[in-house]
Amino acid sequence: MNLTQASSPYRAPAAPDPAPNWRTFAACTQPGSDPELWYSTAEPAIEEARAYCRSCPVLADCLRDAMVLEGKSSKDNRYGVRGTYTPGERAALYRKSATVRAYVASG
Ligand code: SF4
Repeated sequence: MNLTQASSPYRAPAAPDPAPNWRTFAACTQPGSDPELWYSTAEPAIEEARAYCRSCPVLADCLRDAMVLEGKSSKDNRYGVRGTYTPGERAALYRKSATVRAYVASG
């Protein structure tokens, strides 16, 4: 009998659901929010996205994630408002802050 071709009516139990991560609690993913708001380049939309971010319970997690994910990218390779910061502001934060650069480097 070839075990790789054997079929069985028995199935392994489903893996338990992973613990929810911070994205589960993000204000921008809640019903009623418009995801396009965070990727607009129009100033009124940017300010509206920032307002959501200011009340977001996972703002710090989001900003840390963006900084690590984007690394030393230029502002042209960063997208959307994250943790109240625009792409240009995140690029400037990376350039100006040795603490941020060290955190990003630590992965
Ligand atoms: S802080 Fe991040 S997760 Fe929260 S609303 Fe803003 S972009 Fe979304």
